[in-house]
Amino acid sequence: MSRTNSATAPRRVVIKLGTGVLTSGIGQLDTARIAAVCAELAALRRAGSEVIVVSSGAVGLGMGRLGLKKRPSALAQKQACAAIGQSLLMQTWQRGFEPHGLTVAQVLLTHDDLRERARHLGVKAALAEIIGYGAIPIINENDTVSAAEIKVGDNDTLSAMVASLVAAQHLVILSTASGLMDLKGTGAIIPVVEKITPAIEAMAGGTASETAVGGMATKISAARLATRAGCGVFIASGAEPDILARIFSGRNPGTFFVPSGLPLESRKRWLAYYQRPAGTIRVNAAAIPVLREQGRSLLPVGVTGCAGTFAAGDVVDIAGPDGKVFARGETAFADGEIATIAGKNSGQLNPLYPGRKRLEVVHRNDLVLL
Ligand code: GLU
Repeated sequence: MSRTNSATAPRRVVIKLGTGVLTSGIGQLDTARIAAVCAELAALRRAGSEVIVVSSGAVGLGMGRLGLKKRPSALAQKQACAAIGQSLLMQTWQRGFEPHGLTVAQVLLTHDDLRERARHLGVKAALAEIIGYGAIPIINENDTVSAAEIKVGDNDTLSAMVASLVAAQHLVILSTASGLMDLKGTGAIIPVVEKITPAIEAMAGGTASETAVGGMATKISAARLATRAGCGVFIASGAEPDILARIFSGRNPGTFFVPSGLPLESRKRWLAYYQRPAGTIRVNAAAIPVLREQGRSLLPVGVTGCAGTFAAGDVVDIAGPDGKVFARGETAFADGEIATIAGKNSGQLNPLYPGRKRLEVVHRNDLVLL
């Protein structure tokens, strides 16, 4: 019986399920597990939560249906597997929710749907309507039409993007891992991560599975994204019974990543997490604390050079002298202009740009620290 009750149920929650949770062997549905997950999600709904699911498994189920034992290497074959598996996946979810009187809604996204501002807002509005109708959105990457350049690439990241988009209170990433393991210490699961430090990142590995994509590394970077959007993130085992009830009754069976106290506002989140930067602007060491600690705009005097091809208004990374990217923002200058303005102060620049009032390269309102 579920122990979730309305006192602890989150207002809005995104639950991400990995291929390994939904299938056993290669691409064989674990129907008992799926039935149990649907019962748990239905209990959350009854307790008053809005539930959004991010479901992997399309490629794995497609492989299972086609009898493939190895993940295909050719993109078109993976796309075909996803097309075959995605419809099986949706049938599975609908069947699982049927006994609870719930309807599912398929939402397939590419990175561009989240990156381009108008589409981003369109997806947000559509999700709100689906939830308003009482249906459960089941989101996956649109693998069949996603070439590498437009792909998010893994559903951990996609789930964090979705959690940020819908301003979820919690993101729960259920996979075959029970949480983040303290690889340097006791090997036990770390119950709470206050801050994602390099030591935490060092505890991550990839995945050895034939059907899954992510691993602990993508989960940690997803946690970074979602916590900065003000969303608490749980990583726990989807194989354990009553896992959601245990999470939301405060027993924390896995790892909890504490949400940032000061979430980024929506436009900065969009800048930071949904973009694919067109290039990089390099700055000198003196500019770093000016942006980092003083929250000021990037001026030409701090710029040393750039890489990539970009126009004014494009989103670029900002890197220090060591090449490490520490910020991202909308540039006011195209790549071809950077060499002209780099290192110059306003006295030197004003004659070059007569009548142009603002000579910031990236204005602080258009800049976000990573
Ligand atoms: N979209 C992929 C699928 O449905 C899964 C990606 C992932 O698990 O990260 O198979």
